[in-house]
Amino acid sequence: MRNAQLSPRVAVVALTAAVCAVWLSEVSHAQTMDELINSAANESKALELFQDDSVVLRELDILELREDYLALARAREEEFGPPDKDGNYGEKRRRKKRKGIRDRRRRWTNNIVPYTISSVMSASDRRAIQQAFDDWNTYTCIQFKPRTNERNYIHLQNGAGCSSYVGMLGRGQQPVNLARGCRSKGIIIHELGHAIGFNHEQTRYDRDTYVTIVRSNIPGHLYYNFERYPQSLTSTHGVPYDYDSVMHYGQYAFSTNGRRTIITKDPAKQNTIGNRFGHSFGDVKLANAMYSCDSGCANRPSCPSPGFVDKNCRCMCPGTRSGVPVQPCGTGGGTGGGTGGGTGGGTGGGT
Ligand SMILES: [Zn+2]
Repeated sequence: MRNAQLSPRVAVVALTAAVCAVWLSEVSHAQTMDELINSAANESKALELFQDDSVVLRELDILELREDYLALARAREEEFGPPDKDGNYGEKRRRKKRKGIRDRRRRWTNNIVPYTISSVMSASDRRAIQQAFDDWNTYTCIQFKPRTNERNYIHLQNGAGCSSYVGMLGRGQQPVNLARGCRSKGIIIHELGHAIGFNHEQTRYDRDTYVTIVRSNIPGHLYYNFERYPQSLTSTHGVPYDYDSVMHYGQYAFSTNGRRTIITKDPAKQNTIGNRFGHSFGDVKLANAMYSCDSGCANRPSCPSPGFVDKNCRCMCPGTRSGVPVQPCGTGGGTGGGTGGGTGGGTGGGT
């Protein structure tokens, strides 16, 4: 009798222990940006290319108008050759010379990104959103500002996952979708990165020099998520490939067999790609270049590599403190690549 009463309790304890073990094993490995975005999403929808007749979702969180999707496909074919049976493009670059028309129309007018925030966002959601705005506004000349009467603006709202269009569409309100699991500073910085015009780091046209995409671990129908963006449509602005970028996915992105899909050619970066905390030095430098943040500087100083001239006409170098991506050059030895500068730390990162 006593045993009969005891055993369910033992079972409950055992079950609780098992659940805890699974939970612990899941949280013990630091989640990467793509894993966080994936778990915040309605999973079946996240891997569906066509969301409806006019909108495409690719790479888990990039929204694209159907017409842009078709134009991108044409540009890819022109640059990388015709697609294979799964619709995936070749690995080789065609040597055809083309004048790049990189889409300046998608930059935000006067570097200002007006925003509105849905009433569903709680006080703590708003704090995380504000922290993300603050970092962009501090490190770049891009200014996220509450909308007054601007025609084009972003609207931060609840959604089926975390997602954004790339750059300013020029069609009035455009959504930045933040499901519950997306409302931490690092993910919001990532989504706002798309909104200002960033693609994912691992889809840069020169990425094969820095990473190996392991095709055998990616199902054919999901490989489109790794397609490179052609040079005819995108520019690196001379900023080197950045393993530490907040726009870089982790080593298991889109894996369906539990094996790595992204191998870094620099082995030291293998376990660090997938930054979920915030801006890297390269992210800040790229945004400054994209929006010509130094355009008001009459006397541009020449900066020690890899430094750049910021909106205040100062040379900025990689930050030497965790969570600080940039600092003025010559203040504490901020030159020399800044391994991990601004990533990994995330002091005050997530909510
Ligand atoms: Zn993304």
